[in-house]
Amino acid sequence: MQYDLIINGAGPAGLMAAAGAADAGLRVLLLEKFEDISIVRRACCQQFVMDENYEHENIELEPGRIVFPSNGFEVAYAGPLHPITETRFVSASGRTVRFRYADGRPVAVKFDKGRLLAGLLERCLRSGVEYRSGTLATAAVDHGDHVYVHGVHDGRAVKFTAAKLLAADGVNSRTLASLGMNAQRTHFATALCIIYALEGVTGFDPAVMQWHMGMAYGSYAPVILDPSLHGGVADLVVMGSEQQRPEQIFEAFTRTGPAAGRFASARVTGRTACTVKAYTSLPVPWRGNVLAIGDAAAYVEVEVQGALMCGYHAARAVADELLGQGGFERYAAWWRKSFEFNSPEALRVAQGYALVPTYTDEEIDYLFALLEGSPLDGAYGQYKAPRLLWDAIARHSAKIAAGRPGLLEKFSRNAQMTLADTFAHAQKGYV
Ligand SMILES: Cc1cc2nc3c(=O)[nH]c(=O)nc-3n(C[C@H](O)[C@H](O)[C@H](O)COP(=O)(O)OP(=O)(O)OC[C@H]3O[C@@H](n4cnc5c(N)ncnc54)[C@H](O)[C@@H]3O)c2cc1C
Repeated sequence: MQYDLIINGAGPAGLMAAAGAADAGLRVLLLEKFEDISIVRRACCQQFVMDENYEHENIELEPGRIVFPSNGFEVAYAGPLHPITETRFVSASGRTVRFRYADGRPVAVKFDKGRLLAGLLERCLRSGVEYRSGTLATAAVDHGDHVYVHGVHDGRAVKFTAAKLLAADGVNSRTLASLGMNAQRTHFATALCIIYALEGVTGFDPAVMQWHMGMAYGSYAPVILDPSLHGGVADLVVMGSEQQRPEQIFEAFTRTGPAAGRFASARVTGRTACTVKAYTSLPVPWRGNVLAIGDAAAYVEVEVQGALMCGYHAARAVADELLGQGGFERYAAWWRKSFEFNSPEALRVAQGYALVPTYTDEEIDYLFALLEGSPLDGAYGQYKAPRLLWDAIARHSAKIAAGRPGLLEKFSRNAQMTLADTFAHAQKGYV
């Protein structure tokens, strides 16, 4: 056997797993398709989520390190940080729901992902990980007592063998597809994302992340304006699909939408993009000798902090599994408990996201106007903010019943919706 462990993908999950496994004495090969992982090519807002108990953890950002107290580990990071203290949901007519902590602590903190990954790679190399960049893993085959990974490097076919394999190649994992491990998952949709870096946006507050919600903005998904790490530059996050291309959304949002005035003198200084295949998560993220970690096994994303946690636990899982001590099953139990998308509550998340186009712009204006006066608790994550929003709307039920009874009926109809319905409606532009 060439290696104890092969890891496909040097993102935060794969790097963290590689360092941990090598520290545990395993012979580790880490494969990465790109040459230089410190250049962030894939769209990512690069923010730590500071929601309380997010993914069953409350990370602490200390000088030179990120501490994961509940999971019991830390990661070195000495790069820049930029706090965001408020999330805003803004309707077509400008009605605004605010999410912020009463004590003003950040709801999210920007970081430099390229720097974080470069630091983790240095740690891997110091720990003895064999690293092959510029190597695309194309397929894996599990033979029961060993695993083959096939790939391409410099235009030539390459093949490696190991006892165990970690699929850490992200949300569109080729490894899992080649092994047939996505067969039981529902594929909801494929999103196309572009993040535009923009200079010259007016009325832009670098402590605020603003979600624009309404068809008037030209998009079914929220269009998000948030600060970049570079002073004076804003990032505009646009999520579309083949039917509704992100470039068209960008044109509509910045030229004709309700917020267009702020972009009159804006100039695009950079862009990153990615495709995201939204599958249901893998409740049992392993089969045979293969464990899927990070986004590869997730419903859309675990976020960088979640990926680091996956990598940390995966390294231990592989070491235990090699000793016949059920490491993969223990990892699976941790995975199911730690990530909210593994719970039935995910339906409410879908409803939170599904404001557009499930509700008309006028309905969203009405609902946001009800909540405008009193800020909700601090939230950034894709679970807490929709939950707080719908809880707050529910507190106005009597008023809504009196003024807009049809809307209450619509709530209860939509409460029956599954995630698949939600995506189907978004693709059809249903209102
Ligand atoms: C628009 C957008 C905004 C986001 N914003 C945030 C945010 O603000 N904060 C946050 O924490 N997270 C954010 N995320 C999510 C975050 O980027 C991911 O959850 C996180 O990076 C997952 O880490 P991972 O290691 O599982 O996968 P990835 O980071 O995707 O890493 C996978 C690695 O595998 C490599 N790879 C892929 N295929 C192959 C192959 N076949 N062979 C070899 N190598 C391969 C890739 O090049 C990459 O290096 C965002 C995502 C999107 C799409």
